[in-house]
Amino acid sequence: MRFDVITLFPDMVRAPFRYSLMARAIDAGLFGLQVHDLRQFAADRHRVCDDYPFGGGEGMVLKVDPIARAIAAAAQRGVRKQVLLTSPGGRRLDQAFARELAQLDQVLIVCGHYEGVDERVRQHIVDGEVSIGDYVLTGGELAACVIIDVVARLLPGVVGSRASVDNESFENGLLDHPQYTRPRVFDGLAVPEVLLSGDHGRIARWRRQEALRRTWRDRPDLLENAPLSEEDRRFLGALDVRRDSGFEAGSSDEHES
Ligand code: SAM
Repeated sequence: MRFDVITLFPDMVRAPFRYSLMARAIDAGLFGLQVHDLRQFAADRHRVCDDYPFGGGEGMVLKVDPIARAIAAAAQRGVRKQVLLTSPGGRRLDQAFARELAQLDQVLIVCGHYEGVDERVRQHIVDGEVSIGDYVLTGGELAACVIIDVVARLLPGVVGSRASVDNESFENGLLDHPQYTRPRVFDGLAVPEVLLSGDHGRIARWRRQEALRRTWRDRPDLLENAPLSEEDRRFLGALDVRRDSGFEAGSSDEHES
């Protein structure tokens, strides 16, 4: 899979991918990242890519023609691709959207900046718009990095084992279970005994229950669509009873039956 990013600030997008898993994955050829400097596609010798808004008003607007030329130059032919504009009003990025994008051969991301982009980009040039949340960033560069990171970790081989992606928050409809590492006791705070037991069945059950508990407590909306077993439902029912009677607190290493 290949990501192409069109931006006025290429280094902002390149920098995060010089580190850690993402840098290794790119080096290993597991995905490609091409960052295109929008200024290279300006028509004039001063490489102007923004202009004042028609009708007046604050700030500058990115011009449609350099963006259209950049997309035309970057888009591969005959592949499954999407051209996406970063936009606070776009479809909200979530794990399901990321999984859809991970099926494609190429994702091109256009980064807005300043006051945004000429409306004709949105209406006629791109396939869709993507938002990383209900807040306003200074530019689409950070959003592009988030989108690429989230999608790339779903590609085969990018994250060490398939299991570590499959068990992450949102993948199975729940938040992830708590994790601990050494030391066993820090400042009087002990790691739950079950994790030191070596009993894989008990550990798996504890992790499932803690993922359920955390989701129930922090993101109960996710439980509406999460695939739940009868045992899960009994566990959640017991949490409801305990909450209603004023007993349920945070995480626990006790098992509920
Ligand atoms: N005037 C625009 C508005 O009110 O919707 C905001 C422009 S913002 C300062 C500049 C650019 O940052 C946007 O064109 C978009 O590309 C990007 N951006 C800002 N917030 C974003 C978000 N939540 N998700 C994705 N991109 C965002």
